[in-house]
Amino acid sequence: MRDHTASGLTAGVARVGRVALVGAGPGDPELLTLKAVRAIGRATVLLVDDLVSDGVLAHADPKARIVHVGKRGGCKSTPQDFIDKLMSAQARNGERVVRLKGGDPFVFGRGGEEAERLRAQGIEVEVINGITAGLAAVTSLGVPLTHREHAHGVIFVTGHARADGDAPHWPTLAAAAAQGLTLVIYMGVTAIDTVQRGLLHALPASTPAALVQHASLPQQRQHLCTLGTLAASVRDGHIGSPAIVIVGDVLQGVQSLPTSQAGVHAA
Ligand code: SAH
Repeated sequence: MRDHTASGLTAGVARVGRVALVGAGPGDPELLTLKAVRAIGRATVLLVDDLVSDGVLAHADPKARIVHVGKRGGCKSTPQDFIDKLMSAQARNGERVVRLKGGDPFVFGRGGEEAERLRAQGIEVEVINGITAGLAAVTSLGVPLTHREHAHGVIFVTGHARADGDAPHWPTLAAAAAQGLTLVIYMGVTAIDTVQRGLLHALPASTPAALVQHASLPQQRQHLCTLGTLAASVRDGHIGSPAIVIVGDVLQGVQSLPTSQAGVHAA
């Protein structure tokens, strides 16, 4: 048996079973990694989030058991505790368990917490990267995320405040963005008023902004606007969830860049 005590998480716990946390990418199955395709194809049980597209699941063995644990069809999402228990029970039974998560398993979406809980039970966890939605969204606009004339870095941040009230401090993030960092905001649509108000503390209303819904999928929609019109764009029904919000000067050249996406329009 391998010694995993160095992690400090699993001291004295025998290791039984294995789960692969696999990044399903932003939606387009062509953006899956080879490693992900192989793991999905080998799996006997797959636990699947709601942002994972059917094209990705087409790589699963037809005999595999597929359990949807997201909020499909307006149903409530499966309790996290149930997902954790199902994963560990199946892994202990010797099943080849794949936990398929949208984008990258460790970029938001609580993959880190799932991995910690599995490892604490002695279950081995393999993590397979996926292309995160923020990268796919920016690329779909034809924007080079860190074009050196506009940005020297990028901040991936969630717009979703935690239940304990811990929320991003938007004025501070705006100050960072003003120094040449692009903001890529996940889960920002419902809180868009708060995001806009906070960012206007340190960024001009004319700062370029964009919303990209269903990035990389055939139903992708995008909307180019400014920080000053961001919340109105969501309210006017241009874009809903799931979407990425992008704010920063790196979007400046977007209209002059070639793009194959229909429907790109400026507000
Ligand atoms: N682990 C995922 C993020 C999970 S959080 C990743 O790496 O992409 C869920 C949020 O991701 C959504 O609310 C939305 O903001 C974003 N998202 C996921 N898929 C998306 C897509 N195809 N297009 C736009 N945004 C997406």
